[in-house]
Amino acid sequence: MSVSPADPALLKAQYRAFAGQLPLMYLVVAANTWLLAWTHFGHAPAWLTLGVPALLTGVCLARCVQWWRGRREEPDASAAHRALVRAGRMAWPVALAFSLWPLLLFPYGDAFLRSHVAFCMATTAAVSQLYLMHVRPAMLTIALVFNGGFILFFAATGEPTFVAMAVSVALMTFVLVTTLLRQYRRFTDLVGSRLRAERLGAENLRLANLDSLTRLPNRRAFFGALVQACERADARGTRLAVGIIDLDGFKPINDLYGHAAGDRLLKQVGQRLSLMASGRIHLARLGGDEFAMIAEDLGGDEAYVAFARSLCEQLRAPFQLEDLSLQVTATIGLVLYPDLACHAEDLYERADYALYHGKRLRRGGVSLFSADHQRRIQHEAAIEQALRSADLEAQLSVVFQPIMCMASGQALAFEALARWHHPQLGQVSPADFIPVAERAGLVHRLTRVLLRKALAEAARWPEPVGLSFNLSIHDLGSSEELERVLETIRHSGVHPARIDLEITETAVFSDMAQLQRAAGQLRGLGCGVSLDDFGTGFSSLSQLLALPLTKIKIDRRFVAGIQDKPTSIKIVRSLLALSRDMELGCVIEGVEAHEELAVLRELGGNLMQGYLFARPMSAEAVARWLARSVPETCQG
Ligand code: C2E
Ligand code: CA
Ligand code: CA
Repeated sequence: MSVSPADPALLKAQYRAFAGQLPLMYLVVAANTWLLAWTHFGHAPAWLTLGVPALLTGVCLARCVQWWRGRREEPDASAAHRALVRAGRMAWPVALAFSLWPLLLFPYGDAFLRSHVAFCMATTAAVSQLYLMHVRPAMLTIALVFNGGFILFFAATGEPTFVAMAVSVALMTFVLVTTLLRQYRRFTDLVGSRLRAERLGAENLRLANLDSLTRLPNRRAFFGALVQACERADARGTRLAVGIIDLDGFKPINDLYGHAAGDRLLKQVGQRLSLMASGRIHLARLGGDEFAMIAEDLGGDEAYVAFARSLCEQLRAPFQLEDLSLQVTATIGLVLYPDLACHAEDLYERADYALYHGKRLRRGGVSLFSADHQRRIQHEAAIEQALRSADLEAQLSVVFQPIMCMASGQALAFEALARWHHPQLGQVSPADFIPVAERAGLVHRLTRVLLRKALAEAARWPEPVGLSFNLSIHDLGSSEELERVLETIRHSGVHPARIDLEITETAVFSDMAQLQRAAGQLRGLGCGVSLDDFGTGFSSLSQLLALPLTKIKIDRRFVAGIQDKPTSIKIVRSLLALSRDMELGCVIEGVEAHEELAVLRELGGNLMQGYLFARPMSAEAVARWLARSVPETCQG
């Protein structure tokens, strides 16, 4: 008969249901009391018709006042438990008092008054049992004390009418108690199932916000947390930083060791990151090999950068995947709030922008979004706008830079380089507009025009002179785009063997399989495929072998001032050896000085390109150049 403290939610629901009924129950009980006192007034002594009812009403009133005071409180489970236990305990004396008093009045009345006593008791009992349904012990106490007392008392009178009433009340008690117990069970079931549904909902919400692989908060949770963090920073006038963390060299690991190994690595990265999470540091996985952090309240700007650096440091230690020890670095694009971004979406975009530039310039480090980035964004937005509406046919042109063969002293081929003259923006560098076109998904439109124009010029050159054309990785990303490139070459009148297509290494390895297919098709047509800016990306030797290349182009950063840079000498020497071993041609880019050329020739370099030989020149200048010297064929 006790209230079980087992289920906090049930206790609270029970309390709510019980407390909601309390005043009504006491109102009915007090009204019944005074109605009975009124009919007995003058028949029974005053202490029974006035004193006791006043006392009982006092008890009712005291309970109602108590209820009124606490009506707005939402008690916790233990307070609800205490209140229910108290109600169960109080049921005994209250039931005793309310049943003894009418029975004390009983001897004073005539048949009518005695019937009123019986009627009043029966209705009071029924009403209070109904109202106390949610406090099972109290309801059963009333049944036992009040109804039990009634039945025994009236049965003992021997008066047939009262005996009949006792039997009726016994039957009613049975029906009422069983029905109320059943109702109570239904109530607990209902509360239970609602609770289960709520728990399930909460679990679903938790799962919907969790990345299933790393168990870190996911993208959706990250943006939720970011909005809240911004609100907190606004309210407190503090700063925060958002970092997007991208693993360098993750894709090659996926390609080389398989997706299962990639997943295990991501899991371990997640574990390492979650160790760094705290009340002020939130970490999440946005997808793929991209993670994110929100850092709050760390102090000055330096503290945020230092923390981001320590994150990179943490990830630099090798990861152990069974018998495989792998090392990756992470680049973080970081932006501070509220300096250069003023809402959550801005923050993400800017951190992403800083990351993009960090990836190009300083992998494995922290790239902080700066005012310079801000200006570049605006400039790039202007370029994108202009590109979208530009008359590409009229505004785009190609210039050519010779690729020199040292053995023959002649130009082996000319590399086509894009030029764009826009009426408002003026001359825009391809280093600026090509990346913008790539990101805006416009590059294939440019490639179409540029390739056609370059091929039209090459068609006029003498047979052995080749054309090298830069393709964007986006041109190879889909089979339709690639087909368009192949079509243009087929219809150009230039023999495919004279054409080299240059792909830039940094972008190479996003989708290795597709790239392999595309390069294979270009080779199938008879074209050469060169890997541009070699040495700046992070490709491994095995990946290099996987591509059907014909040439590599050593990036000019290894050439600048090479005569004074032993490291550059070593790099170029090994790249040249590598190309020989792999039977690939090797073009050295960016030769500007005679000192550089001397070193490069000593190292065995044969194909070279750079301002020392010629700057990129117009088609007419190429014609004049070729008129002066007709090149022979040359081996790289
Ligand atoms: P890239 O393919 O590495 O092209 C070589 C860049 O180095 C050219 O810059 C060229 O003018 C410059 N250069 C050549 N010799 C020297 C030298 O001795 N010293 C220095 N400092 N620079 C030298 P440009 O024309 O501004 O092109 C920049 C980049 O834009 C290219 O780098 C290429 O990635 C891209 N690009 C140019 N034209 C096209 C194109 O038609 N399609 C695509 N997808 N990309 C292009
Ligand atoms: Ca190139
Ligand atoms: Ca290059």
